[in-house]
Amino acid sequence: MSHMARLSVDPENRVVMHCHPTNTLAMNYVHELDERKLTHTLWEMCTECMIVFPDGVGVLPWMLCGTNSIGEATAEKMREFRLVIWGMHGIYGVGKTMDEAFGLIETVEKAAQVYMLTAHLPRINTIRDDQLKELAEYFGVNYRKDFLNL
Ligand SMILES: [Zn+2]
Repeated sequence: MSHMARLSVDPENRVVMHCHPTNTLAMNYVHELDERKLTHTLWEMCTECMIVFPDGVGVLPWMLCGTNSIGEATAEKMREFRLVIWGMHGIYGVGKTMDEAFGLIETVEKAAQVYMLTAHLPRINTIRDDQLKELAEYFGVNYRKDFLNL
């Protein structure tokens, strides 16, 4: 179902990868499972995030895996996102090649790691929304404008 959904959006998105990256999973327990808020937090964690996944990360709540309903819910998110988190389970990444799908997931995982290394500490600096916008515009990526607070 996810393959069908992605191919209808981009005929080159032949690879769908699923895994359980440690820090992404850890972040699921301490961050709201809201795709706008979660994407925004990830974007703030590393400069490259806005460029690598400007379209954001879709998020599903915890659901029973292996069922038709989680498959349908995932496919629905895949129409909008190349990355989909299964709450407290794992993540999906898609792409033209294995490298692209893996790279997407790895970028989220690194941002989640930075988040987990800093979430318990006072935040002194951040990448501001006007800077995220500047990044997206400079690199010419089509980003989720509704995910920024501008
Ligand atoms: Zn799994």
